[in-house]
Amino acid sequence: MIYLKTEEEIELLRKANLLVSATLAEVAKNIRPGVTTLELDTLAETFIRDHGAIPTFKGFPGSYGADFPSSLCTSVNGCVVHGVPDNRPLEEGDIVSVDCGTRLDGFCGDSAYTFCVGEVKPEIKALLKATKESLYRGIDAAYPGKRIGDIGHAVQSFVEAQGYGVVRELCGHGVGREMHEEPMVPNYGRPGNGKQLKNGMCIAIEPMITLGTYEVALLEDRWSIVTRDGKAAAHFEHSIAIHNGKPDILSSFEEIEKIVGEL
Ligand code: MG
Ligand code: MG
Repeated sequence: MIYLKTEEEIELLRKANLLVSATLAEVAKNIRPGVTTLELDTLAETFIRDHGAIPTFKGFPGSYGADFPSSLCTSVNGCVVHGVPDNRPLEEGDIVSVDCGTRLDGFCGDSAYTFCVGEVKPEIKALLKATKESLYRGIDAAYPGKRIGDIGHAVQSFVEAQGYGVVRELCGHGVGREMHEEPMVPNYGRPGNGKQLKNGMCIAIEPMITLGTYEVALLEDRWSIVTRDGKAAAHFEHSIAIHNGKPDILSSFEEIEKIVGEL
């Protein structure tokens, strides 16, 4: 069942998403060699709760029997998504995907950004840039009358042409009162295939793109999804509404990029 949102609900979703964006901007201020992902998680949780919201990831039941322990997913280097914050200091040259979710006034925000820690190799930076660009290409395909497969095709054709891989096991999703609603939004697909997009549909689009193989594995912590070849992966996510005949991005990277610069 796909819930179409009213104008009022879309504005509540926007508020929850802009709080996610503000939280990621707080994280951005603190990304540097030596900081631990656990420290980033603590400041994010405090920021979210100080703004009257709940971190939706914390305590989220996992598919493999473990509740998620933290407010952020912090996925370093070859970790694609769902990395669990820990005490390892970030190092110069690392990349870290920071995914954040909030529930504010009953509605969920969900957005992610992959940060560079200090100077990062040019080939890794190129991966990040292509992944972010693929997200916007996916968003540009999300017009009423188009289909879910058009979004996936826009992402996949752009990154595969550059030799990157598209992770198949995980995908974007509807977003609303629940963090994960229907429909699923894969980052691969065929034009004209899948459910039709309509005004009022709110979805999170989140390409997970790899430098090498797109095959992934689950770590023993029952959360962290890593590339099988250990090569880097990038992840960018926006929540959007299909609104007044076009895609309307509910989250924002503007404040983040005032701090870290544009990729
Ligand atoms: Mg997310
Ligand atoms: Mg998501």
